[in-house]
Amino acid sequence: MIGVIANGVEHSAIVEFFELFKTPWEFWRPGNRYDVLLCSNSPVPENDARLLLLYSSQQQAFERCRGIKTQSVRGHQFVSFRGERMPIYGNCLLFDGQGDKVLLHPGTNSAAAISMASGGRAVVRLGFDLFEEVLHLLTKGQPAELAGIPTLELHISLLRELIVRQGVPLVEILPMPAGYRFIVCLTHDVDHPRVRYHMCDHTMFGFLYRALIGSVIDFCRGRRSLPQVVTNWKAAFSLPLVFAGIVKDFWNQVDWYLELERDFASTFFVIPTKGNAGVDSEGRTKRKRASRYALTDIADDLKKLLSANCEIAVHGIDAWRDSAKGRDECQDVQKITGTAETGVRMHWLYFDSQAPATLEKAGYSYDSTIGYNETIGYRAGTTQVFKHAEVDHLLELPLHIMDTALFYPSYMNLPNDRARAAMLPLIENVTRFGGVLTINWHDRSLGPERLWGDAYLALLRDLRDCTPWFATALQTVSWFRRRRTASFVRIAHDGNSVRVQTATDPAAADLLALTLRVYNRASSSHRLGSKENGMFEDFTIDGSDEVLVAA
Ligand SMILES: [Zn+2]
Repeated sequence: MIGVIANGVEHSAIVEFFELFKTPWEFWRPGNRYDVLLCSNSPVPENDARLLLLYSSQQQAFERCRGIKTQSVRGHQFVSFRGERMPIYGNCLLFDGQGDKVLLHPGTNSAAAISMASGGRAVVRLGFDLFEEVLHLLTKGQPAELAGIPTLELHISLLRELIVRQGVPLVEILPMPAGYRFIVCLTHDVDHPRVRYHMCDHTMFGFLYRALIGSVIDFCRGRRSLPQVVTNWKAAFSLPLVFAGIVKDFWNQVDWYLELERDFASTFFVIPTKGNAGVDSEGRTKRKRASRYALTDIADDLKKLLSANCEIAVHGIDAWRDSAKGRDECQDVQKITGTAETGVRMHWLYFDSQAPATLEKAGYSYDSTIGYNETIGYRAGTTQVFKHAEVDHLLELPLHIMDTALFYPSYMNLPNDRARAAMLPLIENVTRFGGVLTINWHDRSLGPERLWGDAYLALLRDLRDCTPWFATALQTVSWFRRRRTASFVRIAHDGNSVRVQTATDPAAADLLALTLRVYNRASSSHRLGSKENGMFEDFTIDGSDEVLVAA
């Protein structure tokens, strides 16, 4: 059990941090015994913990008493954790001269964290504010240039490693369903379901330019094959026949998606209202943002998707800033799906700090907007579904990979092979840390002139090789919700018996089981796994009530 002492302002970040690192903990209570005592910017009380963790970017009694030299460095630093770069967004205190270096500050070659033995126990002094970092990640998020670093997962890994390395018993509920290394959430924003809804608008002229001229330029630069140029030219010249309804609309790719994802699960975000551009955070209207289709226009597609067990969710226009409009958008889609729980992702990823509360008030179950338009990676630094501080029920499914970020000339502008190479580290990260990899491939992206189908196929192959659980957005969120409701009822001091209580909600019974990982058991007869963090055993929590890990 971890006891945590911190300022009141950090409490919400602490609670959320321990939903992501799902291990027994509580706010420190006088008289209680803890294996690990974590002090964040706080004086250390009388205690007999085997491991004392002191997080703070301010000078503390620990270094003053020992005469350890310190140096303060301001904002946006990197520290090195097992040779891996980890950004620290707040201030950082560096230590010189004493103790083992746990984290290195490569800029100065000083330590950003040191450990030392003290009176029969270990003390680790970390020169940053963990929960301010967590708050920063979950609210402001990471800048695009650091998008590739799953910083929040690294903080969890560091804390886990410090505990396990000290030989302290530790249990946690893993962020992946039993039997799988991670979850994949395939999603599609439905922005342009038909080219024929765009007669003589900016979208059509943009298409013609890119198909006829852009394709040739790309061919000359070695980024398009000749057959692709031919396909795009044919599509461009067939446009009058498409408008006349004589030949198939080449932006309608629902059948191909259903074929590609036959063995998987996927989620389609549809725009509920036609012709409404909404407004941005400055109150401006950008007419291009308005959709050119109504839900009735794509009723056949929606029927097909529902009968293939795809999820249909809201691609919101105004929901992020107006809960009444958000409720209307939600109800428009619920009329089609008939489901009680509906999720949302805002068109163009519009969002602000009020948006979670507004979306919750509008009745949404989850949001999946937190990602980047311009790059791929981890805006919130995490592979996990999380909860914003201002809401009770709404969960956030972070968005990690979007096709337009990879291929648009103004964004990453990658050819297929480099796009695949850019996505592989994200697959490696989610394999290593668990959680979910959320992908958005737009509705029209398989058709001309984008022709991003090959890249999508390669991605699906790479993912299938890792045998993840392919789940809809709602299934993913529901699974994480189930994990969040699990609580540790009783943990024996030696880690040999643990009782976990999980939700008794009958809806949760259909979801995949949770896994309890137990490190450093005192009397384990067989050890199943070993990672950088030491020895552990895994137990499946498959009952709806509790699990007992017997000695
Ligand atoms: Zn959109």
